Amino acid sequence: MTGRLAVIGLGPGEARHRTAEAEAELAAAEAIYGYGPYVDRVADRPGQMKIASDNRVELDRAGAALAHAARGGRVAMVSGGDPGVFAMASAVCEAIERGPAEWRSVDLAVVPGVTAMLAVAAACGAPLGHDFCALSLSDNLKPWSLVETRLTAAASAGFVIALYNPISRARPWQLGAAFDRLRTVLPASVPVIFGRAVGRPDERVVIATLGEADPQSADMATLIIVGSTETRIIARPDLPPLVYAPRSAGGA
Ligand code: SAH
Repeated sequence: MTGRLAVIGLGPGEARHRTAEAEAELAAAEAIYGYGPYVDRVADRPGQMKIASDNRVELDRAGAALAHAARGGRVAMVSGGDPGVFAMASAVCEAIERGPAEWRSVDLAVVPGVTAMLAVAAACGAPLGHDFCALSLSDNLKPWSLVETRLTAAASAGFVIALYNPISRARPWQLGAAFDRLRTVLPASVPVIFGRAVGRPDERVVIATLGEADPQSADMATLIIVGSTETRIIARPDLPPLVYAPRSAGGA
């Protein structure tokens, strides 16, 4: 008998940001797998088992959930934000590709969620309203030289850039190096948005410029949006500024 595995995006913060589909899948699951803090965000339900694991063991966690589903279980795997953006859906696909044949028969559903860059953008206007891209600054699973190549290419091509995983205790210097690299391509006046814990009670959004952007303003719960030369800022009396990308680009 083969069961079901739903890989669910919980959105950036509180339950009100979750989709109805995510809530329905959570309610139907007999077991919830995931990184501890994400599993904690799911309300306890009688009869539902929670299996929390450490951040670094994504493939093991994916394998355990797939094995459970392959035995006939109805299983959920939770991620913050969207499960397909620097998160568990890729680990589950990798595990299926490498794992035993019966894992390919599991009924797999990837349930999207509001990813951090969309929540941060919505909190300050429309900075992703035209062409943009997203990069993870983590060099755990890719060489730093590739991050630098991509930063230069994206900024040179005029993309607004969303930076996930900007800094951590194990990766203290990378964000400063990324800003330095971007300063070689972009003017100092380009807006930089630091969105921390967006959608949670301790949400904080700070708007700076590339020239003054301080890596110490970010932590692991921060998503950074680096604007382009086309990004606009509108000052408003008694309200935070609006940051947006005009609908046209390149002089059109
Ligand atoms: N799957 C997640 C991203 C996981 S990578 C998503 O789609 O959002 C983890 C990174 O996401 C963090 O280092 C941070 O850059 C960003 N992030 C996650 N939740 C956030 C939030 N509520 N506010 C700001 N950034 C967040």
